[in-house]
Amino acid sequence: MSIQSGKLWGVGIGPGDPELVTVKAARVIGEADVVAFHSAQHGRSISRGVASRYMREDQIEVHLVYPVTTGTTDHPGGYQGAIDEFYEQAAERLAEHLVSGRSVALLAEGDPLFYSSYMHMHKRLADRFDVEIVPGVTSVSAASAAMETPLVERDEVFTVLPGTLPVDELARRLRTTDAAAIMKLGRTFPTVVRALEQSGRLAEARYVERASTDRERVLAIGDVDQSEVPYFSIAIVPSPSNNNVAADPLPGEVVVVGLGPGADHWTTDEVRQEIAAATDLVGYVTYLDRVSTRPGQARHASDNKVESERAAFALDLAKRGKRVVVVSSGDPGVFAMAAAVVEVAAEPQWSDVRVRVVPGMTAANAVASRVGAPLGHDYAVISLSDRLKPWSVVAARLSAVAAADMAIAIYNPASKSRTWQVGAMRDLLLEHREADTPVVIGRAVGTADESVRVVTLEKLEPEDIDMRCLLIIGSSQTEAVESDAGTRVFTSRRYPDSQPSS
Ligand code: SAH
Repeated sequence: MSIQSGKLWGVGIGPGDPELVTVKAARVIGEADVVAFHSAQHGRSISRGVASRYMREDQIEVHLVYPVTTGTTDHPGGYQGAIDEFYEQAAERLAEHLVSGRSVALLAEGDPLFYSSYMHMHKRLADRFDVEIVPGVTSVSAASAAMETPLVERDEVFTVLPGTLPVDELARRLRTTDAAAIMKLGRTFPTVVRALEQSGRLAEARYVERASTDRERVLAIGDVDQSEVPYFSIAIVPSPSNNNVAADPLPGEVVVVGLGPGADHWTTDEVRQEIAAATDLVGYVTYLDRVSTRPGQARHASDNKVESERAAFALDLAKRGKRVVVVSSGDPGVFAMAAAVVEVAAEPQWSDVRVRVVPGMTAANAVASRVGAPLGHDYAVISLSDRLKPWSVVAARLSAVAAADMAIAIYNPASKSRTWQVGAMRDLLLEHREADTPVVIGRAVGTADESVRVVTLEKLEPEDIDMRCLLIIGSSQTEAVESDAGTRVFTSRRYPDSQPSS
């Protein structure tokens, strides 16, 4: 059986140094009947320059000249129309050679499947012809080699970003990755600089121009002339464990953050960024275990008692120049470390220490979302713990809120040693609320152990409740309805007899 069509080779030729052309790519370039490459209107092809030493004199060369790169066009389909037509025609030119039985090596800078023009030809030809791809060294590898800086280690995450993304999207992704490469610079450069600034990663980033060529340059971003950034340049943010930014110029500070209730995706980008920038992490061991630390970061785990001592410890570290992050679950201002830190910081000896609080999602909202909207109207938030306030105060507040007919989110309902409070609360509330008032029991919401149940106030059993639970007690207006997806609970935003206000 004879197949008269030749083979298409997608040949990665690496980042620019002819010695970084792989042995296989060099052989394929030398043996192919036809060598094809893309170029801009000026006709000079970087790829051809790199590949020339591997080419033969008698090879057929096919220049695929882009009709437009960034300029304007009078094509009726606009820029995209002009480009599509060009790709169609270019693919047909290659197809003619392939049909005639000639092998075609189509050169691609870097790697053929990594932001390369090769792909447009591949999509148009791969189902009609035999195709083989020769991978190449990418500009990302060449740029980090030029920086002589490790890019990622161990379980660090590396993200590749096109500089053509909107600034906020770039900044968001830069905040949440360990290391990044930003490709497609050039006219996008001012946007990329703003995204680096917004994400706090400007000082770590480096600009690498024409990596691996004899015109290679590595610069701090601030030293780059923004009007002269070529397309063949890249910005690299090495992982935090490898950025050799000189001593942190920021003064010591305590930042109290909330991780959200349980699920990693409930931790905000802002909180992640604060954690990444910390020199020291302080917190209850269970919460610190939810955070990954990087080399050089100190972890100060404690039990969850004596908050004021932990607060003073954090403030003292900050006073000695450390960037301290105090970790809470949920929101740090809800029965958590923020109040203790702010309170202790009010003492004169800490007056020169900066303190900030960064919010997180609180457990009440996470639990509420699982059943619908039980907190859709006015509600109160009460901790059932009588460790820091007497039970008489808890009881008086429960009665007052119940009489005011608000839904109630109950934190800290029980612990191993505190077991009678839930029963006492139920009995108090039954003086004001109907026996069939819906009660939502959310346990470890957002974690693998999550469970959510809806019971009635009368059937609320203290033995079902532990310290991983949050309870939502309905008001007189809270309804529980059965649906195929389980029980839904909501508290209408309309209260009976309400008059529209003007
Ligand atoms: N700062 C935290 C609350 C700390 S108090 C926040 O804003 O959520 C600890 C109590 O929070 C627990 O006893 C429980 O009532 C509640 N809680 C925290 N995480 C929870 C979760 N994932 N599911 C249910 N309740 C949770």
